[in-house]
Amino acid sequence: MTAPPRPRPSRARETRALLARRGDIELQFVQPRRRGRVHVVVPADPDLEPALVQWSDLSAVDQATCMLGLARRIVPTLCGFTATVYWDNSGRHEFVDTFDDLDLCQRCHDLLGREHEARAFEHPRPGGESDVADE
Ligand SMILES: [Zn+2]
Repeated sequence: MTAPPRPRPSRARETRALLARRGDIELQFVQPRRRGRVHVVVPADPDLEPALVQWSDLSAVDQATCMLGLARRIVPTLCGFTATVYWDNSGRHEFVDTFDDLDLCQRCHDLLGREHEARAFEHPRPGGESDVADE
């Protein structure tokens, strides 16, 4: 196992600023399909063009896959882990809505900062419990 890449320091700072500015943004989460930590997806700024992932942030495998033109989405996460999800949500990673709080990546949680960390828990849990008021 190789260590996860170090997150760009600006990624967490930009995300916290975006969440402070746009209270309507709902966080998205990705998880390795087989099992593993649930990571917080770096939210795109709805006021800007869709965010592009830095080529240098991609692994060699991801760069090769992109060059082959295989359709899938590279999903940056707060902690620096890069998930790859096919457009139909198949592949090695998947977007998840429902997960146990204990599976949340600690680094992603910490990088949200005190002001926004509660938003990482606004999701349904297995068994139907939810902190989301309008569900
Ligand atoms: Zn993470």
